[in-house]
Amino acid sequence: MRNYGHFIGGKHVAGKSGRTADVFQPLDGSVFGKVALATKDEVRAAVENAAAAQPAWAATNPQRRARVLMKFLELCARDNEKMAELLAREHGKTIPDAKGDIQRGLEVIEFSIGAPQMLKGEYTDGAGPGIDIYSMRQPLGVVAGITPFNFPAMIPLWKAGPAIAAGNAFILKPSERDPGVPMMLAELFIEAGLPPGIFNVVNGDKEAVDAVLDDPDIKAVGFVGSTSIAEYVYARGCATGKRVQCFGGAKNHMIVMPDADMDQAVDALIGAGYGSAGERCMAISVAVPVGKEAADKLMAKLTPRVESLKIGPSTSADADFGPLVTAQALERVKGYVDIGVKEGAKLVVDGRGFKMQGYENGYYMGGCLFDNVTKDMRIYKEEIFGPVLSVVRAETYTEALSLANDHEYGNGVAIFTRDGDAARDFAAKVQVGMVGINVPIPVPLAYYTFGGWKRSSFGDLNQHGPDAFRFYTKTKTVTSRWPSGVKDGASFVIPTMG
Ligand code: NAD
Repeated sequence: MRNYGHFIGGKHVAGKSGRTADVFQPLDGSVFGKVALATKDEVRAAVENAAAAQPAWAATNPQRRARVLMKFLELCARDNEKMAELLAREHGKTIPDAKGDIQRGLEVIEFSIGAPQMLKGEYTDGAGPGIDIYSMRQPLGVVAGITPFNFPAMIPLWKAGPAIAAGNAFILKPSERDPGVPMMLAELFIEAGLPPGIFNVVNGDKEAVDAVLDDPDIKAVGFVGSTSIAEYVYARGCATGKRVQCFGGAKNHMIVMPDADMDQAVDALIGAGYGSAGERCMAISVAVPVGKEAADKLMAKLTPRVESLKIGPSTSADADFGPLVTAQALERVKGYVDIGVKEGAKLVVDGRGFKMQGYENGYYMGGCLFDNVTKDMRIYKEEIFGPVLSVVRAETYTEALSLANDHEYGNGVAIFTRDGDAARDFAAKVQVGMVGINVPIPVPLAYYTFGGWKRSSFGDLNQHGPDAFRFYTKTKTVTSRWPSGVKDGASFVIPTMG
């Protein structure tokens, strides 16, 4: 039984609020640990600690800061198995998938090692007589990240890497459902040589989040989670004058054109729809075959594949996906399947009754597949976040494009086709932030940026890539004049370069 407190000033600190939440092990439904839920005062203590540590870290040259991240990468490689095992136990995803979660986070740490390059400013020599102009990027001070359960390594690292590399102190408020890996990351940062206070972890729920949003010394907040909370965090954080970026929910469509390679499209849908039990913000949850022939072909190939998905405990070597994160998540997802049936969609594969032998109390369900879903149905409009794929049949390419464009979410989208012209047209016209062409989960690599459109994101600038350095720094522009010795006296006219 683990007891998670907080991690402040380079060490574990017990929670003082008396409030805790259970951390479950989804594979068998047992309680794996307890996590402390911080009060406003405990958040404040973490902020004060971070604020005291930050100036010296900002004054450390960027190459030295980057070297701490290099060492951190080495330590994460050393502890990769242990971290993946813990992640899988608290989240429910399989161990190979947990390794992917860690790896995609570490790739942003690798990118952040380029901080000396990313932080370079601009310089204009001789912008006027004796006048030079230059800009510099300076850290904001203390910044925070509030992260979801579904990528407990990747998303904290997406936030912390660039923030720390840029010279900020970072406060992480991870999901209370799987805090183990974030706490482990904090220990490894200290072992890598990060000064105490530069990466603090405060565990908690709404009370801790509100304390972060209201704290006057936190200058920026990066949030990832569901859309309703993203919108709330954005409004409250902005109201207190912070820089805020919030990434929310999704309903990612995959358009399958009649000329697509159907076997490839089916492989893609199986992995992107059901991997990690559909608990990915970039999961494909809607397949849109274009034309009756393509739709019938797709359904004929997809159905047996969904029926034969291998569900298993996170520790199983050959499971396609594991259990959902909590009993509530399982009930919610099954509830959506019930709703779909009531709404008149055709449930072709029903995974609601699945039980995992030997793990009867785990949060498992089988893959579900709906055909004939229409755009007025709740199962189409809302994010289900489970192993449920909806097939919406479109008659034409234009209709398929409009489906993606008219949906309130705009995180990811994909098109499967052999026609370059259709693919180009789609990439140009689709109102979604991340587009895959014959790629089902188009998560950009670390040196590009990640972000959705419409109600999948609130605020400005994307995650990772160059935008992350822009988000976690402020620009200062200096105009300097060194007169050549003759004093011209005061000028009352605005200086121009005319
Ligand atoms: P969530 O919104 O429940 O929780 C996210 C964070 O907000 C957690 O740290 C949680 O403690 C906190 N929180 C929860 N309720 C709160 C409240 N009432 N007030 C203040 N804070 C609160 O999300 P989740 O279930 O952990 O994660 C799944 C969601 O995240 C899905 O909607 C998924 O699409 C989304 N997601 C989006 C992206 C992206 O980049 N767009 C990436 C991953 C996940």
